[in-house]
Amino acid sequence: MQTVLVTGGAGYIGSHTCHMLIENGYNVIVIDSLENGHREHLPEQVRFYKEDLNNFEKINTIFEGNEIDAVIHFAGYIEAGESMQDPIKFFQNNVSNSINLIKAMKNNNVRNIVFSSSAGVYGQPEEMPIKETAKKKPTNYYGLTKLMFEQILDSAKVYNMQSICLRYFNAAGAGYNIGEKHNPETHLIPLILQVATGERNNIKIFGTDYPTPDGTCIRDYIHVLDLAKAHIKALHLLDRNIKGKFNVGTGKGNSVKEIINICREVTQHTIPAEECPRREGDPPELVADSNKFKEFDWQPEHSIRDIIQSAWDWHSLQKQT
Ligand code: UDP
Repeated sequence: MQTVLVTGGAGYIGSHTCHMLIENGYNVIVIDSLENGHREHLPEQVRFYKEDLNNFEKINTIFEGNEIDAVIHFAGYIEAGESMQDPIKFFQNNVSNSINLIKAMKNNNVRNIVFSSSAGVYGQPEEMPIKETAKKKPTNYYGLTKLMFEQILDSAKVYNMQSICLRYFNAAGAGYNIGEKHNPETHLIPLILQVATGERNNIKIFGTDYPTPDGTCIRDYIHVLDLAKAHIKALHLLDRNIKGKFNVGTGKGNSVKEIINICREVTQHTIPAEECPRREGDPPELVADSNKFKEFDWQPEHSIRDIIQSAWDWHSLQKQT
């Protein structure tokens, strides 16, 4: 039985992945500072350490005390807008603290790491859908920290380490009774659903003058369970010494207005929308070409309707409890 150390395991994508790892017979160790994570979202079989990656000595001790076969590194700040207000906070956590993790891996001869990267590494590429080879010109510091850490991981081959970087597109949906719960919430689908539950009055559409068919931004929304499955696949690939960088999306884009309309259908709520100015730094369209990853027999299984239905089932349950 393999033992996987998951950093940021109590976060949204991390906790889904932990559940799926347990289901697939892995031993799971989680390090999470709980600054943004939720301890109650973790399966009880997980060995949990409340720790921050800035504490190298503690992290190294955790490695020394456990036989770790591979690492999945989710921990990091995720708010692109915030990264433009406080870039150093992002470089400190997403780059500097993450280096502590590599140091601990190196000290303890752990070779394999799967890294949570992002479509944010690309900025706004000229060609759609986006291939892994597209130019990387992040439009915010968040995307830059992801790109920097990808490059740092490349350099770690010197220490005989190998990595798979999964460049997520827009994670959404709910599984294992866990939904998207950020504080403050900034993501489109949970915000729309909060209108349907009565927690908000309306949804603000950030920009209606983009060069897209209905003028609103297009994103590639992928079910969090399809993303979790991508991590299990990545661990299998590393076992076969297959490494690299992979887009993880569905290849299908939906505009903000389309998403609002699907939410209206699913929730049977009118969901008032207000047209607002653009949000700074938003590229008009981001859709993945995930064929490189699909060659290894990974396929997204969930449609955008499934995503929204699962998110709604979870949100409406939260409201009742
Ligand atoms: N968006 C919006 N209103 C909101 C939140 C988001 O119109 O209240 C838009 C945002 O401008 C972007 C898309 O929805 O075009 C997805 O935004 P989100 O923050 O969910 O993900 P991102 O693509 O920025 O990672």
